[in-house]
Amino acid sequence: KILKMIGKGSYAEVFLGIDNLTSQKVAIKRFYTKSNDIKNSFINEIKICKIITDKINCPYLIKMLDMYSDGTYTYLVLEYAPHGDLETYISKSFKKNRGINEKIIDRVILQVKEAISCLHNNNIIHRDIKPSNVLISSHGNIKLADFGLARIYDADNNGSLSHQVMTR
Ligand code: ADP
Repeated sequence: KILKMIGKGSYAEVFLGIDNLTSQKVAIKRFYTKSNDIKNSFINEIKICKIITDKINCPYLIKMLDMYSDGTYTYLVLEYAPHGDLETYISKSFKKNRGINEKIIDRVILQVKEAISCLHNNNIIHRDIKPSNVLISSHGNIKLADFGLARIYDADNNGSLSHQVMTR
């Protein structure tokens, strides 16, 4: 069940949802399926999310829980990060004339580095690392999100960025 909108990106809207059976909160990313540009991007995102969820055991990467579609939209159900994204956190802190605690900065850098290492160890390049894609989860741990621009690094093909993820 969709509760409210919690984010809007370049090509999708993100809602807070709740699983009626388990009462678990989830994030639901909704893509408008009829635009071809968006279609390529979300097919890519869903495939990379599936690899991350099924094959990579990293606490700092957002996992996919489910997906479904109706005639107009495709919905990607993701783990929910309850404290929003780092860009909003930084701008709120500065509006309140508060700096950001060095311990938090250290933790974010270490965990983002760990998330990137997990991706690189599995030949995935994120290509869109920025504060709005770093989500803050429970206990202040981060979860790297938004794999719409990510690619598989194809070591067997002179290190080119494989588009097979998009076209397979
Ligand atoms: P786009 O791919 O369209 O850029 P994003 O995946 O970056 O969309 O999501 C846009 C915003 O929605 C994020 O910056 C964040 O504020 C919010 N958001 C996305 N995924 C989640 C999630 N799993 N939990 C909580 N908030 C999220």
